[in-house]
Amino acid sequence: MKIKDILQDKGNKVITTVPETTLWETLTEIIENKVGSLVVLGESDQLLGIITERDVMRVIYQERDLKNETVGDHMTTEVSTGRPDDTIESVMDKMTQGRYRHVPVLENNELVGLVSIGDTVKAQLDYARDQVVLLREYIGGPVPN
Ligand code: AMP
Repeated sequence: MKIKDILQDKGNKVITTVPETTLWETLTEIIENKVGSLVVLGESDQLLGIITERDVMRVIYQERDLKNETVGDHMTTEVSTGRPDDTIESVMDKMTQGRYRHVPVLENNELVGLVSIGDTVKAQLDYARDQVVLLREYIGGPVPN
């Protein structure tokens, strides 16, 4: 199973932002779009970084005013990315080792999607369920709902 299989299912939409955005606006975007991260793009749509709810939480913990802090000050700039042809297992390995839950997907340097740890878990579960159905059909047993 590959990243492109997940994107085929969930689509290519990625919520993005720019470095000048305040963390208050960022939090609003995260909540309103029900996502955990925003990908930060530059003027030519090049990938500059990623900012996640965890980065915002850190600033709240430091009791700083979210309206005076910007994405550029708190984003992670060394972003680990994936490609549509990467296997889901390899992306899960990356997330586990790097301790992050979001991986932007690039193709020819262009952002074509974002995969979260929840997407990878869902893909693995769907795959396991399909396998059970196939195997039960094969041995002639009842197929679970
Ligand atoms: P997350 O678990 O995705 O909320 O992210 C935890 C930390 O890792 C935050 O500081 C993020 O900015 C950072 N982070 C999230 N995704 C990535 C990624 N793909 N590459 C590098 N750092 C990331």
